[in-house]
Amino acid sequence: MGGRDTTLVLLDENGIRCDGRKVDEPRRIMIKAGGLKNADGSAYIEFGDNKIIVGVFGPRDVHPKHMSNTDTGILRVRYHMEPFSVTERKNPAPSRREIEISKVIKEALEPAVMLDKFPRTAVDVFIEVLQADGGTRCAALSAASVALADAGIPMRDMVAACAAGKAADTIILDVNNEEDQAGQADMPIGYMPSLEKITLLQLDGVLTPAEYKKCVETGIHGCKIVYELQKKALTEKYFGNGEK
Ligand code: ADP
Repeated sequence: MGGRDTTLVLLDENGIRCDGRKVDEPRRIMIKAGGLKNADGSAYIEFGDNKIIVGVFGPRDVHPKHMSNTDTGILRVRYHMEPFSVTERKNPAPSRREIEISKVIKEALEPAVMLDKFPRTAVDVFIEVLQADGGTRCAALSAASVALADAGIPMRDMVAACAAGKAADTIILDVNNEEDQAGQADMPIGYMPSLEKITLLQLDGVLTPAEYKKCVETGIHGCKIVYELQKKALTEKYFGNGEK
């Protein structure tokens, strides 16, 4: 939550948000499976003005060897923002925020990935944020799920992610950068729609119990929209005209 921008109208008298959306309307979402020929699996997502590419490598040998587990495979996730992904050049060295987001995405993906099927090996997920505009962790998590599926990693379900939040005292779907900065709450959610399980839930801001419930329901509704586009991306690649 940044300082409040008093000149910004987050919600006008017609219930229209600062980027022209209705309260329950997500940004434009485009997901593409594949694209990186040197990766075992990959995906690209545009989520509003966020542009993110994900490469998956493995299952492969773990180096250093002592990090491997004889009972199960391990998942390693690196979320990285390009220096040019935001208006002010970002230092390319990993920031605390990138380390945190790498960790939450890894933990959000783990319940979906059947790690026990490939003991002693690692699956590496590399996330490169080319352009950031609020909600990159959700967009990255959604793309990472598609990239894992594209790599043929056995999964229980895909994790679809979308944030809900509160701005101008109203619960909104898919919080944009301005709403994140000037709004009242941001709640990124990762959800496995077929299993009906939440694997990521964070909350920045304050909500009443009733608002909290509505926010979770709104976020899950967004996840279901993303899930359909994830399946479409895979279907297009493997059964349609998508690039192999
Ligand atoms: P998320 O991207 O998941 O919403 P945050 O809430 O931490 O994660 O960040 C919100 C937004 O703030 C990002 O999507 C990005 O647009 C912007 N942002 C993050 N880090 C920086 C940075 N170092 N410089 C400028 N903008 C940034």
